[in-house]
This record gives sequence, structure tokens and C-alpha cells, in this order.
Amino acid sequence: MARAFIGFGGNIGDTRQLITDAIVCLAQRCELQILVKSCFYQSAPVDAAGGDYINAVIEIETHLSPYGLLHVCQAVEQAFGRERPYMNAPRTLDLDILSFEGVSQNDTELTLPHPRIIERSFVLLPLLEIAPDFFLPNFGELKTYLPQVAHQRIEKLPCHNCNCIEKSVSSQTAH
Ligand code: ADP
Ligand code: MG
Repeated sequence: MARAFIGFGGNIGDTRQLITDAIVCLAQRCELQILVKSCFYQSAPVDAAGGDYINAVIEIETHLSPYGLLHVCQAVEQAFGRERPYMNAPRTLDLDILSFEGVSQNDTELTLPHPRIIERSFVLLPLLEIAPDFFLPNFGELKTYLPQVAHQRIEKLPCHNCNCIEKSVSSQTAH
């Protein structure tokens, strides 16, 4: 079994619902188990067209190979109506494998860890929410890259799946 992180993003339609449904779709596959889900984030497009994106990250455990997982992710993208009219086009749903335990490779079909993992607040924030001490051999501690993406607009959306609202209320009332 290997642990892997998958990043979700989209900016066409009800992306929050689409990501929720895509995670349910993944959860129904016997080849993988979902371990942790981040909250949802709303982010400004980076090098991309269209309106704001909704993003989230999950951690999974799987028997699949890295390419097997990529094909599952691509099947889910297709099932949710993903089209690729041009590079960085607005998208209903994008699934990227951010990292796959123990694998480092530079194949254009599947680069691992994902090459833009440290350049995007919409990846770093949800990833660090569920794995605050995340470390990658070639990058080191991912939290050290946060200052470099601090200018990219992103906001954590209120959610019912976690106690982040209660946490922020209790931290306000604690002072
Ligand atoms: P984007 O780079 O904006 O996510 P696409 O989702 O259209 O664009 O992906 C383009 C190609 O990136 C795919 O055909 C896929 O094979 C390749 N790719 C390379 N590395 C990865 C990865 N770690 N996760 C997902 N796709 C990847
Ligand atoms: Mg992609």
C-alpha cells in the first residue's frame, strides 16, 4: 500500500459539489481508501483563464501503481465532463497527483511529485491543512514555501465537515 495526495480544482459549474461527488466516486473504488479530506478553498486563477477556482486535497492509500492511479483520476475527470480545448482552459474538474509515496520521476505523462506543488497556494494550503509537516526529499518541508505564495489570493471556505469554524470562534474567544 502506498500513500498519495490528490489535488482537485475547477472553475466551471458548482465545483464544490463536483469535488464532493468526485471524492464519493473515488471512495467507491476498491483499489483505494480515502484517509483525509481538506476543507474547500477559493482561489484566484494562476496562469489560467476564467473565474475563481475551488480547490481541495485528499490523502489516500492505494494498491494501484502511480500510472494506475493517474488513469483512475483521468476517468473521474472524464466522468465529470472535463474538456481540454486549450492549455490552462477553465475546467469542470482537474485531478492532479501531488505526490505518491516513494516515487520521484520526470515522465511528462506523470511527473512526481507534481512539479508545481510548491508554486501554488491552492495546493500548499489544503495540503498543509491535512499534513502540516509534509516533507518531500527534493523540496524539504513544504511549509517553508508558504511565504513565496503569500501574494496569491486564496480563502478557506466555511465547511461542515470539520471543526474549523468552531476552532476560529474558540481562538477568537480565547483572547
Ligand atoms: P494541468 O497541468 O493544468 O493539470 P491537465 O490536467 O490537462 O493540465 O494535465 C496535462 C497532463 O499532465 C496530463 O495529460 C497528465 O498526463 C500530465 N501529468 C503529469 N504529471 C501529472 C500529475 N502528477 N498528476 C496529473 N497529471 C499529470
Ligand atoms: Mg491536471
